[in-house]
Amino acid sequence: MIDRQDFWNPFLETLPREKLVEIELKNFRRYMRYAKDHSEFYRKTLAGVEPDDIRNREDLKSLPLTDKEDLRLAQEGKGTTIYGDLLGVDPKEVSDFRQTSGTTGKPVYVPESYESWQWRVEIWCHILWMAGFRETDRVFIPFGYNVYVAFWEGHYAAQKLGCDVVPGGALDTIGRINKMMEIGATALLNTPTYGLHMAEAAKKMGKDPKEIGIQRMVCAGEPLPHATRSMLEDAWGAEVYDHIGGTEPCAWAAMCSERNGLHIMEPFFLVEILDMETLSKEVEEGELGIAVVTPLGRHSFPLIRFNTKDVVRRGTDGCPCGRTSMMISEVTGRADDLRKIRGVLFTPVSVEEVLRKEFPTVSEYEIIVRKKGIMDEITLKVEPREEMGSDAMATLLAGITERLKIKTNLRFNIQPVRPGELPRYTLKSKRFKDLREGQSDGK
Ligand SMILES: [Zn+2]
Repeated sequence: MIDRQDFWNPFLETLPREKLVEIELKNFRRYMRYAKDHSEFYRKTLAGVEPDDIRNREDLKSLPLTDKEDLRLAQEGKGTTIYGDLLGVDPKEVSDFRQTSGTTGKPVYVPESYESWQWRVEIWCHILWMAGFRETDRVFIPFGYNVYVAFWEGHYAAQKLGCDVVPGGALDTIGRINKMMEIGATALLNTPTYGLHMAEAAKKMGKDPKEIGIQRMVCAGEPLPHATRSMLEDAWGAEVYDHIGGTEPCAWAAMCSERNGLHIMEPFFLVEILDMETLSKEVEEGELGIAVVTPLGRHSFPLIRFNTKDVVRRGTDGCPCGRTSMMISEVTGRADDLRKIRGVLFTPVSVEEVLRKEFPTVSEYEIIVRKKGIMDEITLKVEPREEMGSDAMATLLAGITERLKIKTNLRFNIQPVRPGELPRYTLKSKRFKDLREGQSDGK
């Protein structure tokens, strides 16, 4: 029996799948018309194809993908505004400036009209509602949000839900922990890294993070492997929820209370999960693919078939929660982070998974790939939570070497560093550095 209280939009969230697909295609055609008529970029890119050519999902493949690089080029010194060819509304309608984080190159400026921004906020209401946020919650956001979207979206959505929202920028970590206790915060929006760091800091202050009273946390900004999520749940005694998205398309999938994968936010997005080699066919249940996302309500910044480069595993549709949307069972990382090292396909998330799950004495790590002669060399710096004796350290390092060899099929050169030596990140962590020639992370 479905309880309407469990849904932000009980009607849309429980529509039969065929109906969702039908609505998405209809909205896709309308959105494509809008993009062609209002965005200089899509007027050029989609010249020669018309919305009526798209009758089914298969027909989508006739349209080009939009890459981040395309967006960058379309913005360079073009048009009369800083948004270049990408703007989809009259410049007078732009009410918010946002930009991408620029971790993989020059940032893209993202214009939001009031209407387009409200569309994003509504998506985030779904995310927070699924994570159990209600009007009785006091939500603490331990960041200055600057020009980045995620916490602004979370802030406005929590407000729309009727929560009591407390922005926590301009404080240090100790100040934030004290503030949360002082006001009785019950929910957090956080990055996984900062969530772990805050828990560590609370313990150093003599406080058990479990006693602070946080009941739920939605994470943003970084991948959240299962083991890291469990660690956060244990540390805070709270339910921890993941979602996936980006500045350009908005957040497009998130966890429900079952926490058994992520629900794609249908019918607000048309999401294709395409094979990694050719990006030309949709993968089957259980297979890995790259997510290509069309956000069907973004008018100020139209985006058709955006290649997110997120590598995800397609899940089984149907969830005990009653939602009918397509699911992804796992986010395995970014296609940008997938590397061939000594001929083996490697993703940094696999290291995080091993360390967080099996080696709780490790607090931070960093992976560096270099060329040594003609060989690739992969170094893992390991920082223990506290000082360790040399015997304990040797056992730890041998254990990690052994497990990583099995898990990744690669031999790591493991270097211990002193507690506190590695950088702490609050927003985007940079724990993976590929310093071989031709790799963007080395720059
Ligand atoms: Zn569910």
